[in-house]
Amino acid sequence: MTAEEKIRNRRIGIIGMARSGMASALMAEDLGGQPFVSDSKSGELLADQIAQLQERRIPFETGGHTDKLLSCDYVVVSPGVPPTADILRRLRDNGIPIFSEIEFASWACRGRIAAITGSNGKTTTTALLGKMFQAAGIETFVCGNIGDPFAGVAARIPHDGVAVVEVSNFQLEGIADFRPDVATILNLTPDHLDRHGTFDEYKKIKYRIAENQSEGDTLLLNLEDRATVADEITTQARKKFFSTTDDSARAMTYVRNGILWTTACGSEEEVIPCSDIRLPGPHNLQNAAAAVTIARLMSVDIVAINRALGSFAGVEHRLERAGQVAGVFFINDSKATNVDSVCYALRSVGTPIHLIAGGRDKGGDFAPIVKWGKGRIKSVVLIGEAKEKMFAALGKAFSTQFADTLEEAVGRSFEMAYPGETVLLSPACASFDMFENFEHRGEVFKKAVANLKNGSRSNEKISH
Ligand code: ADP
Repeated sequence: MTAEEKIRNRRIGIIGMARSGMASALMAEDLGGQPFVSDSKSGELLADQIAQLQERRIPFETGGHTDKLLSCDYVVVSPGVPPTADILRRLRDNGIPIFSEIEFASWACRGRIAAITGSNGKTTTTALLGKMFQAAGIETFVCGNIGDPFAGVAARIPHDGVAVVEVSNFQLEGIADFRPDVATILNLTPDHLDRHGTFDEYKKIKYRIAENQSEGDTLLLNLEDRATVADEITTQARKKFFSTTDDSARAMTYVRNGILWTTACGSEEEVIPCSDIRLPGPHNLQNAAAAVTIARLMSVDIVAINRALGSFAGVEHRLERAGQVAGVFFINDSKATNVDSVCYALRSVGTPIHLIAGGRDKGGDFAPIVKWGKGRIKSVVLIGEAKEKMFAALGKAFSTQFADTLEEAVGRSFEMAYPGETVLLSPACASFDMFENFEHRGEVFKKAVANLKNGSRSNEKISH
């Protein structure tokens, strides 16, 4: 069935009026479908969305999901809706197909698709890869979890354009035909176990990114990620690898003598000296290797790739430099919501570290922070719901204390830090116990740093 046949004159239920739901509704309408949007929130909280839907004469309901959704041909569900939601059960019981927004959007996309998933590094790699395509003058649509919904741009993507899509597990749970030309699973570490139950379940969902790929497509995997077992993945795509070691026998992109090389286009090509890559840390070298491989496989020239690697400094709230006060450095890594990303942060900061961590526990094991923190962490200040559990894991290894607020944690860490040391916010937890989201947490951190800068204490540090 063509994309047009799947959408034109179809009754398309859409659950959720957040960004991806709204984008799906507008895409459905633009392509001749009959969307009906339903949100459990009360109408007063959705005034902007309602105005937009009314302007387009798109029917909707708020304050709950009625049986109207059951008369739809299929339903597009937003990533925020939990799989256990009663409405999803009712739809399943009635045999109504349920699709995720990226599945739906992919029907309208005529260009090539590069899809990026993994536990960590998705946003950074997606943004970096987008810069590579842009530097090559290719019409590029960076979308998905990173910001703009895929459905908001899909129908505009021409044959020679490319969608660079950051794909979350929530989206992969609802795919049927989604087929990226090149897909990567950057790494797999336990995350979101609160939603997915076991690590095996979580991995299986990630592997679905390749389930519809065919022989001409590529699935790119990380040779250094022991959790991604290539043999476990069922796909017709060719499996290729990237590495940050000198493993040219097995990897398409690898590091030799401090230089990144790739054979993605056949012969070996020098990409860039690693020291010229702007993104810091060993994890970002992995992200860079992945992006290089995808870009080159999709015909981006080496000069454009090199330019993007040399200029892209990273995305906000990911090891973001947040300033310097009286010789003490501050780094905002609010997006580090799981243990693995914190361990990479610890390895990326070259100075003694005063770690601020805590928040809402996602079911992780904090012990690896002890391993990577030894010889690096000088103090820990814990905040949020997880602080007792984290104290049990970290308290014996490091000088650890509690704070009631992030501002207080910043103040205490600053007091303990000497010039040349770093206060690092890298929480290992979700933010929702104290903040709207991780961006909000990062903003509060940066504001607290700015306040320190303006405050009198900034002059009190004594160098030693
Ligand atoms: P995601 O979109 O998968 O959450 P981000 O690029 O937003 O990934 O980065 C999230 C956190 O993980 C940040 O703290 C970042 O420094 C860290 N990180 C980035 N890339 C990797 C990687 N390849 N492995 C481990 N941690 C990473």
